[in-house]
Amino acid sequence: MNYKYITCDHIINKITWNDTLFLGNYTIDPYQNCEFGCKYCDSTYDPTIYIKTNACELLNKELADLEKGCIIVGSVHDPYQKAEEKQKITRNLLKTIQKHGFSCHILTKSNLVLRDLDILSNISGCMVTISMISTSGNISNIFEEQVPSPKERLKIVEKLSQHGIKTGVAVMPLLPFIVEGQLEQLIKAASKHKAQYILHKHLELKGDQKKFFMDILKESFPSLVEKYEELYQDNYMPNDEYISGIKDILDSLCVKYNIKNMIT
Ligand code: SF4
Repeated sequence: MNYKYITCDHIINKITWNDTLFLGNYTIDPYQNCEFGCKYCDSTYDPTIYIKTNACELLNKELADLEKGCIIVGSVHDPYQKAEEKQKITRNLLKTIQKHGFSCHILTKSNLVLRDLDILSNISGCMVTISMISTSGNISNIFEEQVPSPKERLKIVEKLSQHGIKTGVAVMPLLPFIVEGQLEQLIKAASKHKAQYILHKHLELKGDQKKFFMDILKESFPSLVEKYEELYQDNYMPNDEYISGIKDILDSLCVKYNIKNMIT
């Protein structure tokens, strides 16, 4: 892994659509690319992690002119990837967000987020969503071996929630034919660990990602190759029938385990 220190011209981006999934108004990414290397993610193709050294200074200037709203921290790349342990860019961005009275929604898989509980507890409207594809350590080891295990991530959820942070689980990306059998276990575990909501989104296979992912399937789940070809055909997402079927299953599991199926 290579690290490159860069300076940017601007740091915050306005979301121009109605973000009903994450409820964000802006996005910010302290790092470009991600060293966690999850195999379903297109943030991993470039082995260089770009560290935005002037992120905090820029945010301080940019927030002064913006209408208050919710900032998605780590919209594309994990803001608590390994580099953050030393660089503390995310930590300083959160302090700036707090200073300017904005709210935030952090998306991560890392327990490093717990380091910043002192700041998170003081950001009004702060939310943290922890992504999980399954409760199975075996599946996690195949696709995301460098992030904390599912058990550890559930503990992060519980700890954040106990500290009064609105916390949920994102079943993202939902891997067709691989995780459906464990969805009930996942929703049940999320509820038990005090997650307040479940979000989900199916796996998207855009451009080179499709070939890359199909190679993993050939190696680890050869019997699914044909089913994926059929499900995705020439599209980057599964067919509508599959998407609405999964939504129905998750909605009913959320009712069963008394957990919201969206952020409210
Ligand atoms: S942690 Fe998130 S951003 Fe990083 S590689 Fe995994 S899916 Fe991609």
